[in-house]
Amino acid sequence: MHIVHEYQQGRKWMARLPYEADLLLELESFATIQKIRVGSIRVIGAVKKAVISYYDQYKKEYRTINLEEHLEILSCIGSLSLKDEVIKAHLHITLSRDDGSCLGGHLMPGTLVFAGEAMIEEFTGPDLLRIFDEQTGLPLWEFRS
Ligand code: ZN
Repeated sequence: MHIVHEYQQGRKWMARLPYEADLLLELESFATIQKIRVGSIRVIGAVKKAVISYYDQYKKEYRTINLEEHLEILSCIGSLSLKDEVIKAHLHITLSRDDGSCLGGHLMPGTLVFAGEAMIEEFTGPDLLRIFDEQTGLPLWEFRS
């Protein structure tokens, strides 16, 4: 694998997410304030409602899914990297309903926290940039040597 960067462990945080915060925007805001340029995020907890999306590989566009219900966050994981010099969190989330069934997708703004525990890690090393990728239509990591 030649498209990798090596990083060192930076700062680490354990955070309680505020009630009714927007899950994605709250994490991006924290990363921006702390100036985390590269990192990883893990979250568990519950949401009052969620907005996720599914990337249609034929149409090369995201389809939005609105979930107007209370859900558990079984797992929400992803990365922090830079897109147009702005720190962006890319997170995928698995949510469960009251019968234990699951659904999930790409986390979008509009997901409201009921309660949440976030584990955030910073990696130190080269910047990791998202650049538009023609093949997929997605802003993917670009590795420059
Ligand atoms: Zn995604």
